[in-house]
Amino acid sequence: MPRPRSPAPSVRVGPNGRILALSVAWFTDGAERRRAARASARCVECARPLPSHRTPYCSRTCQWKFHGHYFWDSARSYVLLRDRYRCQVCGVRHRARELQVDHIVEIARGGAALEYSNLQTVCRSCHAAKTRAFLRTHRSDAGASTSDAGSAAPPPAAGPAESLRATGPAPD
Ligand SMILES: [Zn+2]
Ligand SMILES: [Zn+2]
Repeated sequence: MPRPRSPAPSVRVGPNGRILALSVAWFTDGAERRRAARASARCVECARPLPSHRTPYCSRTCQWKFHGHYFWDSARSYVLLRDRYRCQVCGVRHRARELQVDHIVEIARGGAALEYSNLQTVCRSCHAAKTRAFLRTHRSDAGASTSDAGSAAPPPAAGPAESLRATGPAPD
C-alpha cells in the first residue's frame, strides 16, 4: 500500500525541478517493502503471489515499475513500455530515442514527479510544442518560482542495488 512520502534530503532534483532519484527512500522505505514482499511471497508492486521468496518481483515489468517510484530512469523506461512507444498526444509510434517522458501536470505547477498517473510518452515535436506553450503562460504567471535544489545534502551515488539498470541517457 502506498504511504505518503515526505521530501527527504536524498531527493535529487534535475533541471525543470524534476525529481531524478529518491535514493535514501530506496534503501529505507523501498528496502522494507521489498523485504516484506519476499517474506510474504507477494510481488512488491502488484501483490500477485510469487513462486519463491527469492525475489520481490513477479516480472520484469513490476521490477521496472517499482524502481520507477524511486528513480527517474526506471520510471521513464516503464512509461515508454506502458504507452507502447506511442506519443500520447499525436498517437504516432516512434523509436525510443525519438520519445520523451513528460509530466502531464508540470512539476512547476505542482505535478507529481515520480507518479505514473502524471507521466506520459510524447514525441519530440509534441513535447517541444507543449513546452513552448507552457513557457508562454508560465512567464505571464507573474514571476517564475525557482526551486532551490542546492540546499539539500550532496546527492548520494544512486543506483538500484539490484540487477536492473535502466538504459538511456539522462532525460532531456
Ligand atoms: Zn507484480
Ligand atoms: Zn506526438
